[in-house]
Amino acid sequence: MLLEHQKFDIILAGAGLSGLSLAVEMARRPGFRQKKILLLDRDRKQKNDRTWCFWATEADHLPPVVFRSWEHCRFYAPGFEKNMRIAPFRYHMVRGIDFYNWVFDQLDRHPNITRINTNISAIDAHQGVVFSEAGAFSAQLIFNSAFTHTPIMPRPSEVYPQVPFSDDRLVEKNKSRLEVEYGPLVRLLQHFKGWVVKAPPGTFDAGAMTFMDFRIPQHGETRFVYVLPLSDAEALVEFTVFSPALLALEIYDDVLRNYLSEFLGLKSYSVQDEEFGVIPMTNFPFPSGQDGRVINIGTAGGFVKASSGYAFKRTLQKIERFVDSWEHTGQPDPELLVSPWSFRAFDSIFLQVLQSQNELGAEIFTSLFKKLPPALVLRFLDEQSTFAENLRLVSAPPPGPFLRALVQQMPMLFRL
Ligand SMILES: Cc1cc2nc3c(=O)[nH]c(=O)nc-3n(C[C@H](O)[C@H](O)[C@H](O)COP(=O)(O)OP(=O)(O)OC[C@H]3O[C@@H](n4cnc5c(N)ncnc54)[C@H](O)[C@@H]3O)c2cc1C
Repeated sequence: MLLEHQKFDIILAGAGLSGLSLAVEMARRPGFRQKKILLLDRDRKQKNDRTWCFWATEADHLPPVVFRSWEHCRFYAPGFEKNMRIAPFRYHMVRGIDFYNWVFDQLDRHPNITRINTNISAIDAHQGVVFSEAGAFSAQLIFNSAFTHTPIMPRPSEVYPQVPFSDDRLVEKNKSRLEVEYGPLVRLLQHFKGWVVKAPPGTFDAGAMTFMDFRIPQHGETRFVYVLPLSDAEALVEFTVFSPALLALEIYDDVLRNYLSEFLGLKSYSVQDEEFGVIPMTNFPFPSGQDGRVINIGTAGGFVKASSGYAFKRTLQKIERFVDSWEHTGQPDPELLVSPWSFRAFDSIFLQVLQSQNELGAEIFTSLFKKLPPALVLRFLDEQSTFAENLRLVSAPPPGPFLRALVQQMPMLFRL
């Protein structure tokens, strides 16, 4: 028997990037004005908990909260460097807090949308009920971005105490089932620590950001630093690793300190702010359909680009296409949230290479930026490149590891 619960048409369980993007997209469309929509999230989103960076063209629809943009990107590796104009793209930075405030300002104008801050304990997909500390809520349709039902994130630890998603209790059970069913499942992590550094004026070139700097010691992993100058005296400097496990806390700080002195020549600076994050890089075949009354979105729905960890622009684009079709047809079509199979296959093979030979990242990215126009690489990562362009892309890196990975991934590719 069901407990007393409040009824809505649509519930968004989790209101971070994907939940808020969905809410704001529904809010601006007349077709959703009659729907009672509920947003549930345990976090009030009053802090700048992350910065989102991404590349976009003039034609891309962006929220009016871009904080900084760059036309030039630098790439460095041992013995190679390139200063690239990335037109027609520009590289953009959006601060989390600006995005949250902009979305809340839009949502607060719509009385059909309710926001409640509460911890969700469970979701009953079959009955369409969300259980939380603020009570139970039911709806015809629930969009989940709070719970990952797959073991894609590390467990909370001293290094990473606040994992942004809630595991359900099935995760551990799923883990062994997944290994049996899928075999070559790749689970890497993109983990990073960044410092906002203040230094003497003239230290940074505010017109160019460093996309990847692989000159730092790799220690058998894929490690790089990126630098986003906010002015000529301030920059976000971020140390990033693609690997199976997190590092000890002090290693992130040591690498940042060494980079500032060795590569940026900084003797005096102060750290104004810092960010730490983990993004899953996995070829797990996220369920693409509707499970009972639940549709998974965001990281929990496989929106993160597996080979790069980028999700911001993809999330906005997937959600816009999905809501547009829903408004016109009257039916939500979760298939519109899924990336094309070919690109998921490329990602899967690339991840397998990095899992088998984690040290190859620097060589692979260097070969791409050495041999190809940067806009082509970015279009490929956006899943917008043509078949002929894809062939150019896949023939740029050393073929051996990719052919071996293709063979290893073969059983997986047909289940993606
Ligand atoms: C620090 C950081 C930096 C990133 N930088 C970039 C970047 O530069 N570019 C890029 O493209 N991508 C980036 N990403 C990746 C990706 O864009 C973000 O992780 C993005 O926020 C994912 O959107 P989401 O909706 O899946 O998750 P989130 O935005 O994390 O939203 C999930 C929500 O669920 C809520 N929640 C979880 N459990 C519960 C519960 N039990 N009860 C109630 N609420 C719950 C959380 O509070 C959260 O608000 C970054 C990720 C991180 C962590």
